[in-house]
Amino acid sequence: MSKLKNKVAVITGANSGIGLATAKLFLKEGAKVVLSGRRQEALDEVSEDLEGDFITVLADVGKPEDNTNLIKTAKAKYGNIDVLFLNAGIAPPTPTTDITAEHYDEIFNINVKGPILAVKEALPNMNDGGSILFTTSIVSQKGFDGFGVYSASKGALRSYARVLTSEVKSRDIRVNSIAPGPVETPIYGKMGLPQDVLDGLGQEFGQQIPLGRFGTSEEIANTALFLASEDASFVNGIEIEVDGGLSQI
Ligand code: NAD
Repeated sequence: MSKLKNKVAVITGANSGIGLATAKLFLKEGAKVVLSGRRQEALDEVSEDLEGDFITVLADVGKPEDNTNLIKTAKAKYGNIDVLFLNAGIAPPTPTTDITAEHYDEIFNINVKGPILAVKEALPNMNDGGSILFTTSIVSQKGFDGFGVYSASKGALRSYARVLTSEVKSRDIRVNSIAPGPVETPIYGKMGLPQDVLDGLGQEFGQQIPLGRFGTSEEIANTALFLASEDASFVNGIEIEVDGGLSQI
């Protein structure tokens, strides 16, 4: 029960869904966890249920100065970082005919620029032998109507992770990505879709998945723990699909 004993982990998007489940699991496994999110009330609310050594830091990953402050605060509290889990993301759908520059900028700002700038800030403050994790998505491997910009953003993040894997090789830092399939989290409610469309989306995904169901945040957290821990000491540079088999059919 202590796969991350005394390791320092920073998690973005940690007040909800996959990030929150991972924060809970990492705490259970002995890590010191920095939970970051962009809403203070949400951070305060989830803090009430958490046990272990943690702090919360308000940070909008789309703002460079917030990424700087997040890493600075983590370092000031716990010292160098061992695990950096860049998980925050948004997935508002829009068909190509309706894409605007603002829609594109918002998604790329949060899903691509944010994680890349966070890595830049974190690298000088990370221990050698550490682990960097990105949350990508199987949408970048499989086409889902209306998710063009989101898919492109997750594909971009995956490409960046490949380059980073090589750039940090002299420091034994492992870089891996988790590509979830449909996972039951609040993200679907934030898509701005009418309930009937949302239900249809749920059914469409659910029926296609070989395991016949959505995944849970805890199932993604288990994968994050594996990749962050010594259990994955020779796993580097990959993207692991945690999707009930959806990407393979
Ligand atoms: P979620 O909405 O529960 O969590 C997303 C988190 O990101 C929230 O904590 C939110 O506050 C945070 N966030 C969004 N914009 C932010 C910003 N500008 N600054 C800081 N934090 C911000 O959804 P989730 O499903 O847990 O999503 C986590 C990650 O998983 C995302 O990157 C998402 O794209 C990815 N993903 C989810 C699914 C799924 O089906 N749920 C599938 C594939 C990939």
